[in-house]
Amino acid sequence: MPGATFSRRLVTAAFAERLLGWFDRHGRHDLPWQHPRSPYRVWVSEIMLQQTQVSTVIPYFQRFMDRFSALEDLAAAQSDAVLSLWTGLGYYARARNLHLAARRMVIEGVPETLEGWAALPGVGPSTAAAIVAQAFDRRAVILDGNVKRVLSRHGAVDTPVEAAAAQRRLWALADERTPDDRAADYTQAIMDLGATLCRRGQPLCDYCPVATDCRAYAQGRVAELPVKRRRKARPTRRRVLLWLEDEAGNLFLEKRPPTGIWGGLASLPECATAEGIDERLAGLALDRHDDWRDMGGFRHAFSHFELEASLVAASVVPRGVAESQGEWHGLDALAASHPPVGLPGPVARVIRERAGLLSATQDAGRRDD
Ligand code: SF4
Repeated sequence: MPGATFSRRLVTAAFAERLLGWFDRHGRHDLPWQHPRSPYRVWVSEIMLQQTQVSTVIPYFQRFMDRFSALEDLAAAQSDAVLSLWTGLGYYARARNLHLAARRMVIEGVPETLEGWAALPGVGPSTAAAIVAQAFDRRAVILDGNVKRVLSRHGAVDTPVEAAAAQRRLWALADERTPDDRAADYTQAIMDLGATLCRRGQPLCDYCPVATDCRAYAQGRVAELPVKRRRKARPTRRRVLLWLEDEAGNLFLEKRPPTGIWGGLASLPECATAEGIDERLAGLALDRHDDWRDMGGFRHAFSHFELEASLVAASVVPRGVAESQGEWHGLDALAASHPPVGLPGPVARVIRERAGLLSATQDAGRRDD
């Protein structure tokens, strides 16, 4: 439809020109994955940035690149080494998929198209577009959380963003505004706008380069948008975690199943109730030689439930071959910045606290699964 194309160009020119002008002066040009902006580095950064803020990602990205500076290094790594560098970053399925995708790419080659990237594990349509735009400077339309917020407000989309109709509308708005040129800069620019001005709380509309035609701003509805579906209260799941030390002070950790919550990570053995802890210990072929001691606990929010964990400790002696995949680790090694295994964030915090590196067990206060 020639009319539609013409109007798309008008929207594109107006929106993208103002946004790029602002980006040139105020955007983020010194992020570690921008120098150099190789497909490998952009891909790793985009996976880390899913559900996670730039400031959190930067030290993780730098440590990851120090250890795995090339795709081949990552593909050849043991999964414990990859998960260890992800400890505390959350959403561990991302690390498992990253590792799988690296192994696939060393065999099949690094994709250059949207379809090729989107076919890799852990890469959705928006992530694939962000990689293609930034790594190859080719036009591709992104719609991540920041962009959804900007466009819901700029276009006054007043249906819940999770609804299929809103998603279609937002993809259309994103497409209309994405220019043909400067793909990498535009992609960074709209992400920066969402992160720095069009923020979730207290957006800075007075400084916004696209405020003049922002419908939410004109209608005084910025605080109402984007519309979120009312969340059901998350159920609480209670667990007892066992802190088991041998005579030398080594800690017993179990490898969790490869998928699901904290999949593939090493963690403290857990029980549904305190009544089951001695039976659990027997299953691990460990004998206890003092009373259980209360170690407090923590709460941790996952996307679909709250974990309320209480910790009990005991000194134990191995009796023989354990039924589970357990391993003993020195506390200092586990508390180091590169532990020998990947650990769930809250468990890593308890370990650091016990090793004297943290003052108190704190609620992790973030979601991961
Ligand atoms: S004017 Fe405000 S609400 Fe509209 S896009 Fe800019 S920062 Fe967001």
